[in-house]
Amino acid sequence: MGNQKPAWLKALYVQNFFVPCSIHEAAKKNEKNICCLDCCTSICPHCVLSHRCHRLLQIRRYVYHEVVRLEDLERLIDCSNIQAYTINAAKVVFIKKRPQNRQFKGSGNYCTSCDRSLQEPFIHCSLGCKVDFVLKHYEGLSPFLRVCKTLQLSPDFFIPQDIGDDEMTNETQDSTIVDSTTDDHNQHSSSDGSENTSFSLELKNDMIYEEASTVILEKKVHVLKIMRMELLEKEKRTS
Ligand SMILES: [Zn+2]
Ligand SMILES: [Zn+2]
Ligand SMILES: [Zn+2]
Repeated sequence: MGNQKPAWLKALYVQNFFVPCSIHEAAKKNEKNICCLDCCTSICPHCVLSHRCHRLLQIRRYVYHEVVRLEDLERLIDCSNIQAYTINAAKVVFIKKRPQNRQFKGSGNYCTSCDRSLQEPFIHCSLGCKVDFVLKHYEGLSPFLRVCKTLQLSPDFFIPQDIGDDEMTNETQDSTIVDSTTDDHNQHSSSDGSENTSFSLELKNDMIYEEASTVILEKKVHVLKIMRMELLEKEKRTS
């Protein structure tokens, strides 16, 4: 079947986001949080001017994971069956899968491509898992891809007009979801907050889990170091 991912989709995976832009090293708010789908590269808000005629997709970050607005992604690819989350009134989906190597595994609803448990109607945890699934079970991605000629950043996206503006002292807030969509025309946006709460709880648990794993790893490394020292000493004694 070969690799049939369109270039922009590959870029979403392999480009680094939320790192400083090398072109605008000295500028404030130079975090690369946009993917130019025509250049297939990650860019920062200062770069937008030179890509203004290109299709731009804003990347957001939620607890170390990259997400995009469902509304934006739907213009590019069929997102049905991907679990979406409502964060500050914006529906978002994860780009990549978030590994969840939990020991216990009940009889739940799990992602088609990874171990993540999902809410009932959904079968993919992320765009990545859906793409993996489609490439495995269908002829290719093309029936799922949509023709999208233009894609612009949301009107509230902060685009610096003047590089070297020193007045911007407020901390960067672009990295988190701060979409205060007040007039959401989608009827179903009646997020009662509980979804958000459970979602952030889940993420918090993930963080605790990851932190715990790090501690365990560090301990293991420490033990290994001691064992190695002991071995070296033994070797010294025997030789
Ligand atoms: Zn571009
Ligand atoms: Zn830049
Ligand atoms: Zn998954």
